[in-house]
Amino acid sequence: MVMTASPGMRDSAIETMDRADLDALSEERIRYTVRYAEDHSPFYRRWFAANGVSAREIRTHEDLLALPIVSGATIRSHQPPVTRDFGFLSAPCADIFTIHETSGTTGVPKAFFLTWDDWGRYAEKYARSFASQGLGHGDRVVVCTSYGMNVGGNTMTVAARRLGMTIIPTGRCTFPSRIITSFRPTAIVGSVFKLLHLADRLEAEGIDPRETGVERLVVGGESFAEEARRFLADRWDCPVHNTYGSTEGTMCGECQVQDGLHVPEDMVHLDLYDPELRAFVPDGAEGRIVISHLLPVGGRSGMVLLNYDSEDLSSVVSRERCACGRTHLRIRPPCREDDRVAIGMAHLRRTELEQAVFAPENMADLNGEYEAFLYGEGDAGAVLRIGLECRDPGACDRTAIQDRVVETLAAHNPLLGAMRAGGELRILFAFTGPGGLELHQIRGRPKRLVDRR
Ligand SMILES: [Zn+2]
Repeated sequence: MVMTASPGMRDSAIETMDRADLDALSEERIRYTVRYAEDHSPFYRRWFAANGVSAREIRTHEDLLALPIVSGATIRSHQPPVTRDFGFLSAPCADIFTIHETSGTTGVPKAFFLTWDDWGRYAEKYARSFASQGLGHGDRVVVCTSYGMNVGGNTMTVAARRLGMTIIPTGRCTFPSRIITSFRPTAIVGSVFKLLHLADRLEAEGIDPRETGVERLVVGGESFAEEARRFLADRWDCPVHNTYGSTEGTMCGECQVQDGLHVPEDMVHLDLYDPELRAFVPDGAEGRIVISHLLPVGGRSGMVLLNYDSEDLSSVVSRERCACGRTHLRIRPPCREDDRVAIGMAHLRRTELEQAVFAPENMADLNGEYEAFLYGEGDAGAVLRIGLECRDPGACDRTAIQDRVVETLAAHNPLLGAMRAGGELRILFAFTGPGGLELHQIRGRPKRLVDRR
């Protein structure tokens, strides 16, 4: 069959492949990759030997259920200083092109090894994602993603080479405004809050973000409420595209249709598991994202992961063809497993709080920054203390904002609303000026919903 190239597609034959062919390609690569792991990765070689399983028995995606789930803790417990060797290193040391560490929240960072082949695949995933968002030759892209020991900024830069784009590698969003006015970037890669801060900073300098020539924003790094996305898109007057990338090799991107993030199914296999990590959940249901690398037959990799537990949650939007023409699986924007707290029978997600904060009527007074702390009260009660930043604390209508946040929370989370109505949950508010919240005192990724019980 002759495929015509579709605009914005890196590889039409792969990206629009029929479901049956795509599944067959995926299973061919599962078989090869599992055998590669048994042959090259000390961790997997020992596991197969100890469990009396042969890699040749793993033939389909269901067979992956027989393999162990690997977590960040598993990687850390099979590397120095715990073990002498790196259990997951799966190529000769001399064949490794780069060595990375992922910023773990606790303990020793995970080591990660990439060959140049791995770089090619990582870059291609980003290139496909960028292309699906309408980026290409002639675009000038500011990359605010860090260029440190993680993979993101660097592999995006290699992806840009493939698309003929210009990269402005600032590595953070706190760059001087002349980067915008002198170089006239057409796109910025960053996070929702950093890009909101950048818009505030430009406006304070008399520059309207809407008039800068920026045509799209690409955000990633953490989940966000659709209300926050709409507010950001309005501040910059351009579309905001979500991406989901990690050093472990995800990298899914939302195309211009914006109905889920496409998973590059020829390069990564994604399963969604139940909370006990024992079985797959049905399509549509929320589950834990567990990924397996897929190598093309004959391919090599510095660090193969099979059944890697991302500790993120998502659900399948569709396995059918997207309006953009791509057939690759679409998932809902992933969110962190630890980004929610249990309050009695109810659960509160950080993004639900964000949705309530970003109610459009609030945003005339608020800058969007928020944090919330949960405290215990009495035998079973709880107090949720929500901190918000007003652009002008003297002129902000606090009562109206409080009422809207509480109403929105209760409307979208009836269980939580019932607890509040029943007196088991009190919701308190604290307003400050810009920069007044506690989270600004802490380095690294801010935690906006903190359980202090
Ligand atoms: Zn699409």
